[in-house]
Amino acid sequence: MFDLKKKKAFVCDLDGTLFMGPNPIAPAVDFVIRHTNSGRFRFFYLTNNTSKCPDEYMKKVSGAAIPVTEDQILTPLITLEAYIREKGYKSVYLISSERVKAHMSERLADTGVSLDYDPESNELIALTYDKELTYDKLARATELWNMRNVPPGTMCPVRTKNRAPVDFVATHPDNCCPSERGPIPDIGGILKLLETTNRMKPSHIFGKPSPTLLAPVLAEFAPEEIAVVGDRLYTDKAIADNAGIDFVCVLSGETTREDLARYSGAPPSIVVETFDKVELPGK
Ligand SMILES: [Mg+2]
Repeated sequence: MFDLKKKKAFVCDLDGTLFMGPNPIAPAVDFVIRHTNSGRFRFFYLTNNTSKCPDEYMKKVSGAAIPVTEDQILTPLITLEAYIREKGYKSVYLISSERVKAHMSERLADTGVSLDYDPESNELIALTYDKELTYDKLARATELWNMRNVPPGTMCPVRTKNRAPVDFVATHPDNCCPSERGPIPDIGGILKLLETTNRMKPSHIFGKPSPTLLAPVLAEFAPEEIAVVGDRLYTDKAIADNAGIDFVCVLSGETTREDLARYSGAPPSIVVETFDKVELPGK
């Protein structure tokens, strides 16, 4: 049974939960502002959307008049940075917008990593939600995979001198991004396109539902003091389930009551029309 009195922190999804495209979902945002100011709850903002940098998300949140600091923004770009550091990669083909590339380059400046396409030296292909995606970027990703990972003499006669297989990761699994004009393509469809082309598949997919992004929240609060709030069962509910914490399902985004009726997994801890209704369930 969901008990609001025990909660001290909410990890909030943004698109479909606090915003619909650029527009704030007013009652949900009012609830967050009220309780940020009262100090009753601490809020974190969890987004799988890697088309934007953390500072752009801060602007988005603060643009809705919600007081916010950078440590409240959780994005899989943080996980990608940690992954590149952990693996010690020095040459990454980063498929991203120019702004995200500049952000990652700055974050990783001390490692000396290059984030440019270089078929002889690339060790990793990293796919983000790139709203500047072009046919050339996709073709390079598949060519790189063909020249390095496909057995010689099969479908790719041209090989790189570097015979080491190239790693491939994606920042998140979302099939689509909700917008005020309905769903638009996100990484999920791009991953399917790549897989359909030459069977290339990522070794890791970061972001929700991987619970690694919740580490900063779990360092500060006990699991029973936290709830994830979101509109998607396959990402938001999954990350809550994977971290063993409550899930507040809002109906202001992708999931409908019909989806919930069809859903075969454990039900959400609570289902509300909009986030603010956690205070008044059933109204
Ligand atoms: Mg969402």
